[in-house]
Amino acid sequence: MSSAIDELLDNAAAYEARFPGPRATIPARHVTVVTCMDSRIDPFAIFGLKTGEAHILRNAGGLATDDVLRSLVLSQRLLMTREILLMQHTRCGLHGADEAALRRKIVAETREEPPYEFGAFEDIDRSVRETVATVRAHRFLPHRDRVRGFVYDVDTGRVREVTD
Ligand SMILES: [Zn+2]
Repeated sequence: MSSAIDELLDNAAAYEARFPGPRATIPARHVTVVTCMDSRIDPFAIFGLKTGEAHILRNAGGLATDDVLRSLVLSQRLLMTREILLMQHTRCGLHGADEAALRRKIVAETREEPPYEFGAFEDIDRSVRETVATVRAHRFLPHRDRVRGFVYDVDTGRVREVTD
């Protein structure tokens, strides 16, 4: 049976031939992008980034989970990033998802309660504002003055800022 991973590994072998060369560990633009895992979002293309220029943190929703906060603290304290760009997007799988039903199904199948929230939301602008607020309130982060939130439209490619 053919596997997507096998195909990706063929591509990786070809990539080695055009590898752009080593980069510094510290991101050259001193910025971290937090966004959703959605396959339609290409942060490098959208923001004109090259390898070595930014940290990219992704999870379902692009939410400020404990692990994203952990990574942001390391990004700023050890790897000298200064700004945080938070970006959620239209037609996200978590937008309007029935979190309670998902939990019930998992509990019915496994007899265990998931130890984390999945983060379903109803209002995307509100979700972005809450994510920005969570990051700005995280006192382990030394740089919280340049934290901005955005919505990416997966049907047009437009990036819209969500203001306070
Ligand atoms: Zn999403």
